[in-house]
Amino acid sequence: MAELNLILLGPPGSGKGTQGERLQEDLDCPYYATGDILRAAVKEGTEVGRAAKEYMDRGDLVPDEVLIGIISDRLGSGEADHGFILDGFPRTVVQAEALDAELGELGRQLTAVVLIDVDDDEIVNRLSGRRVCQDKGHVYHVEYNPPAEEGICDVDGSELYTRDDDRPEVVRHRLEQYHDKTAPLVDYYKKQGLLNRVEGADDPDRVGEKIRTLVSTLSLEEG
Ligand code: AMP
Repeated sequence: MAELNLILLGPPGSGKGTQGERLQEDLDCPYYATGDILRAAVKEGTEVGRAAKEYMDRGDLVPDEVLIGIISDRLGSGEADHGFILDGFPRTVVQAEALDAELGELGRQLTAVVLIDVDDDEIVNRLSGRRVCQDKGHVYHVEYNPPAEEGICDVDGSELYTRDDDRPEVVRHRLEQYHDKTAPLVDYYKKQGLLNRVEGADDPDRVGEKIRTLVSTLSLEEG
């Protein structure tokens, strides 16, 4: 099967992480969630983590060059040679152009961009109830997707916490950033004929099924 090079696009809290993990299991290819990569760097206290922390705490975007460096290292490492799933990158037109250039140099191109569309009110509602596992970042919601045991991750038994940037005032700022800087990517990828919109307000299983159907079609086309 030809490689699938996919981007998951959508506002914070649209379910990119949940769907990205499922897709990774289906497709067995690397899944790069830049928010998770940055949070791990903050936890480890690396140089990138120290530089990123203040932006993340405010709900601002981390500077483009930091993210472009992170993704370019991974694409150049060989581990993504047979496909990849990107979640949370690109988030600006500058990042999208850098990704196109990087893939072009490697003689590759994107297969598709999946936009998981969810409106702002629903996002605020979702993020206020979101809980994340300490260990691997598995995502839950107190109401819509609760763990079997309150406060504990079903997968690895680690404790669940509320992200600092899921506080309501930071969520509002993150949404502004999304509309300002990331939403222009919808047009950017539409013009390239890569955009596939999926209604993300459904429950996670239904959204997952829609994405799975879409990706199967893409696999057949890429054949
Ligand atoms: P996420 O987990 O995807 O919501 O990302 C959490 C935070 O990490 C964002 O609010 C940004 O501060 C930062 N971040 C993640 N990915 C990017 C990116 N591609 N560009 C800039 N900042 C990013």
